[in-house]
Amino acid sequence: MSNIVIDKSKCKACYLCMKECPKNLIKISDDTNNLGNRVVEFQDPNGECLGCAMCATRCPDLAITEVYRG
Ligand code: SF4
Ligand code: SF4
Repeated sequence: MSNIVIDKSKCKACYLCMKECPKNLIKISDDTNNLGNRVVEFQDPNGECLGCAMCATRCPDLAITEVYRG
């Protein structure tokens, strides 16, 4: 099982990661960045994340880190 961590302080709210995720696990949150744009959050209540890292690879601001769980 895999997980990701999004550093909201680095997120520019471009939403490229959302479009990339094959499982649609990244959503727009209610939190805003310093430009007032709504940043993204990881929502995976059913443990569907594939650990494919497509989201992390796509993020131009290196805001996404993968965390592997056993
Ligand atoms: S690692 Fe893959 S499945 Fe998991 S959130 Fe990122 S794009 Fe989606
Ligand atoms: S790709 Fe990176 S900067 Fe863009 S919305 Fe996703 S986490 Fe934020």
